[in-house]
Amino acid sequence: MILLGLAGIDLLNSMAVALATVLLVTWLLQRRYARQLTAEVRRFQDLAKQRERERDLAQEEVFRRLYEERELNREKTQFEGQLADYEKFAALARLALGAAHEINNPLLGILSHLELELRAASDSEQRAEIEQCIAGAKRISGTLRGLVNYARPGPLMLSKISLYRLVADTMGFLEGQPILRDKRLENLVPTDLPFLRADANQLSQVLMNLLLNAAEATPEGGRITVSASKLTFVDSIEIQVSDTGIGIPPDVLPHVFEPFFTTKRGKGTGLGLSISQTYIRSHNGEIRVASALNHGTTITITLPLRPLTSEQEEPEQSEVVV
Ligand code: ADP
Ligand code: MG
Repeated sequence: MILLGLAGIDLLNSMAVALATVLLVTWLLQRRYARQLTAEVRRFQDLAKQRERERDLAQEEVFRRLYEERELNREKTQFEGQLADYEKFAALARLALGAAHEINNPLLGILSHLELELRAASDSEQRAEIEQCIAGAKRISGTLRGLVNYARPGPLMLSKISLYRLVADTMGFLEGQPILRDKRLENLVPTDLPFLRADANQLSQVLMNLLLNAAEATPEGGRITVSASKLTFVDSIEIQVSDTGIGIPPDVLPHVFEPFFTTKRGKGTGLGLSISQTYIRSHNGEIRVASALNHGTTITITLPLRPLTSEQEEPEQSEVVV
C-alpha cells in the first residue's frame, strides 16, 4: 500500500516535471515566435514606409513632368506666335520693297514736274498750292525710304565713333527746330567714353528717331537727355535717351517696336522705333523701352564696343562721325 502510494507520488512528480517542461518549451517557442513576428512586422513597416517615400517621389516627378509639359506647351505656343509674326513681317517687307519701287519711280517724275511748274508759276496762291504738293510728295518719298531701310537695311559701314560727338552733332542739327522750342536738350555722354566701332549713319539715324519721339512727347518746359556709360563686366556700352514727357500707356508699350505702329494719327509713320531696332540689332545690340505714364520715357540701347560682324569696315583713319 505504502509502496503503491510512493509510486503514485513519483508518477505525479514526473508528470509535473513533464508538464513544466512542455510549458517551458511552449513559452520559449512562443517567445521566439513573437520575436520573429515583431521583426517581421517591423520589416513590413519599414517596407511600407519605403514604398510611401517612393510613391511621394513618383508623385513629385509626375507633377514636375506635368509642369514641364505645360511650360513647353506655353513656349511652343509663344514660339509659334513669334514665327507667325516673323513670317508676316517678312512677307510685309517683300511687299513693301515691291510697292516702294513701284511708287517711287512715278513719284520722282511727279516731283520733278511739280518743281518745273513751281519755277514757272508767278501767282502766289498757285505757288503755295504747288509747294504743298511738293511737300506731300516729299513726305511720301521719305516714308518710302524709311520702309526700304526697315525692310532691307544697307550693309554696315563700321568706323571709329566718339559717341559724345555723334550725340552733340545730332542735337546740334535738331536744336533750331520748332519742335524743340522751350525744351531742354542735354548731352550727358562722358567725353572720355571708349570709342565705338559702329555705323555712324545708322547710329545717328537711331538717335534722331529717339530724340524726335522724345521731343514730340515732351511738353514745353520739359527735359530730354542722352547719357551713356561703359558696362562693368562686358565690352559694351549703354546709351539712354530719357524724356520727361507724357509716357507710354501700359497697353501701348508692347507694340511700340512693331512696324507701322503709331499713336500719332495722320502724323507718324510708325517706323522710327522699328527701324531703330533693326539697326541696333544689326550691330548685335539691344534696344528696350521703359515708361511711366505722365512722367516720361527712357529708351535704353546696349551696344557692343566692337560688333562681331563680317560686314564692310571703313579704313582705320575714319574716326570722324556724322
Ligand atoms: P511714330 O513716331 O511715327 O509714331 P515710332 O516707331 O517712332 O513711330 O514710335 C511708335 C510709337 O511709340 C509712337 O507713336 C508713340 O506712341 C510711342 N513712343 C515712342 N517714343 C515715345 C516717347 N519718347 N514718349 C512717348 N511715346 C513714345
Ligand atoms: Mg517716331
